[in-house]
Amino acid sequence: TPTIGVLALQGDVREHVAALAGAGADARPVRRPAELDAVDGLVIPGGESTTISKLADIFEMREPIEKRIAGGMPVYGSCAGMIMLATEVLDGRPDQRGFAGIEMTVRRNAFGRQVDSFEAPVAITGVEGEPFHAVFIRAPWVERVGAGVEVLGRVTDGPAADRIVAVRQGNLVATSFHPELTGDLRLHRYFVELVRAA
Ligand code: GLN
Repeated sequence: TPTIGVLALQGDVREHVAALAGAGADARPVRRPAELDAVDGLVIPGGESTTISKLADIFEMREPIEKRIAGGMPVYGSCAGMIMLATEVLDGRPDQRGFAGIEMTVRRNAFGRQVDSFEAPVAITGVEGEPFHAVFIRAPWVERVGAGVEVLGRVTDGPAADRIVAVRQGNLVATSFHPELTGDLRLHRYFVELVRAA
């Protein structure tokens, strides 16, 4: 059973721990470097990326996380977690910094105030069955991906049609939406399998 941590600085930690446990992982919150050492993979939850960035410094987690990412540890970031994995952030706070895992440019709060929250079906490459019932909450989208980044999912229609909302680069996966809120465990299972294979 792979041991998977959920970065527990801020955000919807409990929901990810529950989803990972349901998907067959030994799941636990991770707040300190020693706790990070004990996991095989990490989830960065949704929440507020500016706060997570600040707390990563205060809790001295930035360097350990960047080192593990460089060492190949699988990481899945959802929403704010996607922002924390991006090499470039548009509409971010000047002092916010990600872990620079995935070669991509994301735009924070991209879907606009009139649709702070919305839901849409999104099919994910590598996940079988129905499209996800994707829940977006003040979500980012991806505006540019580097050559090594695989696009896993896009919005299919409406004003945000074709926007990239799921990506993968090596062992790093990110989605704009929150599968941990809908009881659909397929993405967490996908990530657990990725950790198992790594
Ligand atoms: N808007 C948040 C941010 O910029 C992300 C929202 C979320 O994670 N649901 O970090």
